[in-house]
Amino acid sequence: GFAVEKIDRAYIDGDWRLLVGPEHPLVDPATESPVGSVVISGSRIVDKAVTAASRAFEQGWGATPQAKRVELLKRFAAEMNARSEDLANCISAEIGTPIDFSRKGQVAAALWHLQTTIAALEGLDEDRALTTDPQHRVRYEPIGVAALITPWNWPLNQVVLKVAAAIAAGCSMVLKPSEWSSRTALILCEVIEAAGLPRGVFNMVPGDARTGQNLVDAPKVDVISFTGSTRAGMSIASSAAKRFARTTLELGGKSPNILFPDCDLPLAVQQGVAHCFRNAGQSCNAASRMLVAREIYDEAVELAAHAARATEVGLPGASGAHIGPLVNRAQFDRVQAMIKEAQGQGAQCVAGGPGRMVGFDKGYFARPTVFADVAPDMSIFREEVFGPVLSITPFDSEEEAIRLANGTGYGLAGYIQTADNERADRVSRALKVGMVQVNGTSREEGAPFGGTGRSGWGREAGVWGIRSFQEIKSISGAALFE
Ligand code: NAD
Repeated sequence: GFAVEKIDRAYIDGDWRLLVGPEHPLVDPATESPVGSVVISGSRIVDKAVTAASRAFEQGWGATPQAKRVELLKRFAAEMNARSEDLANCISAEIGTPIDFSRKGQVAAALWHLQTTIAALEGLDEDRALTTDPQHRVRYEPIGVAALITPWNWPLNQVVLKVAAAIAAGCSMVLKPSEWSSRTALILCEVIEAAGLPRGVFNMVPGDARTGQNLVDAPKVDVISFTGSTRAGMSIASSAAKRFARTTLELGGKSPNILFPDCDLPLAVQQGVAHCFRNAGQSCNAASRMLVAREIYDEAVELAAHAARATEVGLPGASGAHIGPLVNRAQFDRVQAMIKEAQGQGAQCVAGGPGRMVGFDKGYFARPTVFADVAPDMSIFREEVFGPVLSITPFDSEEEAIRLANGTGYGLAGYIQTADNERADRVSRALKVGMVQVNGTSREEGAPFGGTGRSGWGREAGVWGIRSFQEIKSISGAALFE
């Protein structure tokens, strides 16, 4: 168990501020016991944080030499590395991810993205010649004050992706982390404090959707980087449009995983199921729709059902490759409702199903579930579950596979399994998504992350992550003066 704790501090202008006000209760996802609360930052606190960020930007942070920003990011990485065990334990406690995954998945991903951002910044030119004539050039300048709003499912990685890119770009910032992962964000504040960023460059206000809305509506916020639900993304984009604040939106997904007859079927199914169930299915890029060629369909369904039944579910504190509980009651109820709806609409449940995982009498442990014969008009085909639930749909031709893949309005990731490189290339081009991964190939360091359509717009990670916090200026008639 974890101690009852009240999270009642904001980090503003290099100081900790005690918060008083309404509280959001927190529950241990594995036991359902109360573990504390987070105090919601109100509009006055948000205003103070934005003012501090704005002042830091005006006082010259935006003009800090690139070498200095690289140095600060390197200190940030060193300090985060030193706190990695604290961070992993905190993530397991807050969102219920098994400890080995918290270490090797959650924290490792954040460190990796931080290193990647440093590498990208080191190779980047602030000024770029447009032609051979040096008086024609293009400059990249920080947009100004950034609002960073993040969810709970990758609570460190999503924050670090944004904070590192904003620092690299020269923006000052206010972070509003998820109410379900505020403790992880507090440790990150301590890391950033230890790294020695100038006062006011980084600020953090704990809180819920209202705090997020206050931040989005703050007139001095110039750019908003949001990761979370499509619903909240839509609200943020329309608020931001009123004053033309720039937005980057990383939203939900319903990513297809297309299995062609020439793939390594046992491997593709095993990896596909594991990908869908990773982080208990609570990843925006989860391969949650398996589209399978008719001639290998029956075998794929059988293999997937077997893989789901073999998926272990266990406690966050236990070491091993199992999956943990869902984050909270609302998420558990939502997943249950979607499983029941799929059954009601005629999808074939071949593994798992509704109810709590066998062997648990408390905690938000969902059953690893597989639906076969999922038709394109069913909710389970179209809507993001954010739980360990895979849907499988057969196809008869490459054209049909592409049509099904592109048929949800989401466009985050697309996965392709085939031995035919020509087909892999053709289908990669046809998918309306931000990221394609073929035969289980990982995204390479520096690859842009993000989607299209209902999955949002803009890109994070590497050079693209930095650029999303910068404005482009064309200068004609003045060569760079040094
Ligand atoms: P959420 O949208 O409810 O909340 C995300 C964050 O936004 C939280 O900090 C929340 O307090 C805040 N928020 C909520 N409504 C807001 C509003 N109207 N204005 C301003 N801020 C608001 O999402 P969640 O439940 O925390 O996370 C799950 C969702 O996030 C899933 O749909 C998932 O697909 C998506 N997600 C996407 C990515 C990606 O990179 N594309 C990554 C992770 C999660």
